[in-house]
Amino acid sequence: HDYTKDDIRNLVKSENVEFLRLTFTDMYGIIKNVEVPVSQLEKVLENNLMFDGSSIDGFVRIEESDMYLYPDLSTFMIFPWATDSHGGKVARIIASVYTADRKPFVGDPRNVLIANLDKMKQQGFDSFNIGTEPEFFLFKLDENGKPTTKLNDSGSYFDLEPLDMGENVRREIVLTLEEMGFEVEAAHHEVAPGQHEVDFKYASALEAADNIQTFKLIVKTIARKYNLYATFLPKPVSGINGNGMHTNMSLFTAGKNQFFAEDDELQLSTTAYNFLGGILKHATNFTAITNPTVNSYKRLVPGFEAPVYVAWSGSNRSPMVRVPASRGQSTRLELRSVDPTANPYLALAGILAAGLDGIKDKIEPAESVDRNIYLMDEAERIKAGIHDLPDTLLAAVRNLEGDRIIREAIGINLSQQFIDAKLLEYRAYRQEVSQWELDSYLDIY
Ligand code: ADP
Ligand code: GLU
Ligand code: MG
Ligand code: MG
Repeated sequence: HDYTKDDIRNLVKSENVEFLRLTFTDMYGIIKNVEVPVSQLEKVLENNLMFDGSSIDGFVRIEESDMYLYPDLSTFMIFPWATDSHGGKVARIIASVYTADRKPFVGDPRNVLIANLDKMKQQGFDSFNIGTEPEFFLFKLDENGKPTTKLNDSGSYFDLEPLDMGENVRREIVLTLEEMGFEVEAAHHEVAPGQHEVDFKYASALEAADNIQTFKLIVKTIARKYNLYATFLPKPVSGINGNGMHTNMSLFTAGKNQFFAEDDELQLSTTAYNFLGGILKHATNFTAITNPTVNSYKRLVPGFEAPVYVAWSGSNRSPMVRVPASRGQSTRLELRSVDPTANPYLALAGILAAGLDGIKDKIEPAESVDRNIYLMDEAERIKAGIHDLPDTLLAAVRNLEGDRIIREAIGINLSQQFIDAKLLEYRAYRQEVSQWELDSYLDIY
C-alpha cells in the first residue's frame, strides 16, 4: 500500500489503533520493536522517534547510541490477533534505522538491502523479484509452556488422533496471512512429520524480506494459540528432513522478466546465465549469510532434499540451483541452499551482489548437471567441476572473510561484526560434548 501520512492518521482513528510497534531487524535476523501509544503518532510520522541503539547486537557503540526510526509507511499493518485491555488495536510499521545526524545507519540490515538495490538500479534493472518457500515444524509445548521437539502431527505409527492438528493451524495461518495482505499460493504438509510449508506470491526484494519477517511472526503467533511451537530451525530433529527456505529470483526491467529469452535452448537469457554464473562463483562465500547458524550445516547433508554441492540443473532437484519449468514472466532461478535462519535482508543483499557480479563480469556458469549428484562419486563430481558447499559454520565464515564482493555488499564493518559474532558462536559450540560422541566413543575408549 502506498499510504500517505493522512491515510495512516485516518486508519489509526477509524480502526481504533491504540499502540504502534516500530519494528526493525538486527544482524542475527531477529525482529526488534519499540512500542509507543498512539499519542506519539505525529512524532513517528515526522521521523522523530528516537531509541537507544547501543543495546542492539551489531549496532553502535555506547557513545553514539541515539538513533532515529524512519517508518516505511507502506508497511503499516494491523495485527488481527492483538487488542489491548481497552479493546484497542495494535499496528506495526517497519522502520529503517537512521543515525543521530540523520543518515541511513549502515549497520541496519534493511538499509544494506536498500543500498544494494540502488546499485542494481544503476546496472539497469528495476526490480529483484523474490519468492520464498519457508518451511517450519510444529512442536508440542511442555507443561511449562516451553518448546519441545515432540512432533505434533501423526506420521507416528500408533497415533489414533481423530484430526490432524497441523492442518487446522496451517489453515488459520493462511487465513491470517490473507487478512494481513499476503497472497498465499500454496500451503501443504512437508515431507517430514510435523513439517509444513506456506508459499506466498513473490514481491520485490525489500517487500519480500519484510514479508519473510512478518510471516515468521504470524506463524509463531498462531502456533502459540494452538499450544504449539513453530520453529524455523534448519535441522531440529536429526534423521528427517530439515527446514529450507528456497529462494526463487528474477530481475525485471520495465515490467519484463529479464531472465526469459525465447530463442535459447532452455529459454534463458544471457542475463540469467551470467547471474547464475555469479551465484555459483560466490555460493561457498555467501553461505555464511544464507545459512548462518551451527545448526544450518546439519541440514546441508546428503539424503534429505537439501543441497550439498554447488551445481545447477534445468531438470532435477538435487543441485543447489534449479531452474523451475515455468517460463515467460515466471522464468526464475531457485536457490535451494538458503535456510530460514538467514537474515533475509542480508541474504538477499549477498545473493544479489553475487548475481550482479556475474552480469558485470559476464561469468559463464559451469555445465548443468542433469543427473542425481548424490549418485556420483567424488571423482565424477570433480570431473564435472562440482564443488562442495561449506560443511561447518566455521568453514563458511572463513570463506566469507575472503570474498570482497560479498563483504562490500554487506558492508565491511557490519560483515566484520557478523564474522566475529559467528566465530564466537562456533567456538561456544565446539566446546560442547555431544550425545553422539558419548554414544560412539565412551564404551570403546
Ligand atoms: P516449487 O517449484 O519449488 O514447488 P513453488 O511453486 O512452491 O515452487 O514456489 C514458487 C515461488 O516462486 C512462489 O513464491 C512464486 O510466487 C515465486 N515466483 C514465481 N514467479 C517468480 C519470478 N518471476 N521471480 C521470483 N519468484 C517467482
Ligand atoms: N526440506 C527440504 C530442504 O531442506 C526441501 C524439500 C522441498 O523440496 O521442498 O531444503
Ligand atoms: Mg518445500
Ligand atoms: Mg522449491
